[in-house]
Amino acid sequence: MPELPEVETVRVTLEKEISNEEFAQVDAHYPKIITNDTHEFKQKIVGQKINRIDRMGKYLIFILDQDALIIHLRMEGKFFIKLDEPIQKHEHVVFHFKSGRNLRYHDVRKFGTITLIPLSEYLDTYPLNQLGDEPKDINIEHFYSVLNKKNTEIKAVLLDQHIIAGLGNIYVDETLFLSHVHPTRIASSITYDEAKWIIQAAIQVLDKAIQLGGTTIRSYTSSLGVHGRFQNELNVHMKANEPCPRCQTKIIKMKVKGRGTYVCPSCQK
Ligand SMILES: [Zn+2]
Repeated sequence: MPELPEVETVRVTLEKEISNEEFAQVDAHYPKIITNDTHEFKQKIVGQKINRIDRMGKYLIFILDQDALIIHLRMEGKFFIKLDEPIQKHEHVVFHFKSGRNLRYHDVRKFGTITLIPLSEYLDTYPLNQLGDEPKDINIEHFYSVLNKKNTEIKAVLLDQHIIAGLGNIYVDETLFLSHVHPTRIASSITYDEAKWIIQAAIQVLDKAIQLGGTTIRSYTSSLGVHGRFQNELNVHMKANEPCPRCQTKIIKMKVKGRGTYVCPSCQK
């Protein structure tokens, strides 16, 4: 599943490749990916230009002339830029540009979404109005007061995109390892200093992962020739039975809220 660093890598690549392209036509082979009325969507987008591409959490935001095109890749969504080659399996939405190139949205699982919202409204409209701040923007006092009220595991709280945006399974494991906090600790037991360490570690983990183009792991490979290298920097995630890089204790794998979770039982109390 692409997480924040992988989505950021896709954003940078797309912005370089397709800024200033103008939409000429849209083919929706699997219209349910588009959450708007398909006919209306096509009518509105044709003639608009891509001025820049932003990102909030794991959402890509194409800033057009009048509207924002908001894309969530979910489990398997990816993009390809092509000329007039035949449509491949899983290429569900094809955006044709005036230049003759086209942008293809490919999604094996079909869980991704594409939504067009006017520029004057998109920040105050679902889904972006539901999104918490990213670690780099979060206020520690506020974050600590939220943790104080939660009687659930810290890992589950960090995965909740309403509270903090952009941390998925891999990066939560790495963040908790760096901050010496066990993933099953009840959030309300986290001290102010620990809350501060968690945020500092999350910023550090995401910055490093963005620098390295994200993590290429299991089934998800980014499109557009993007291959991340952060998998070489992982301390605990996917490292069951390997020695902890800090204390040499064997890393263990456990389940937290159904998610595979990696912990050093000695460093993370
Ligand atoms: Zn350790």
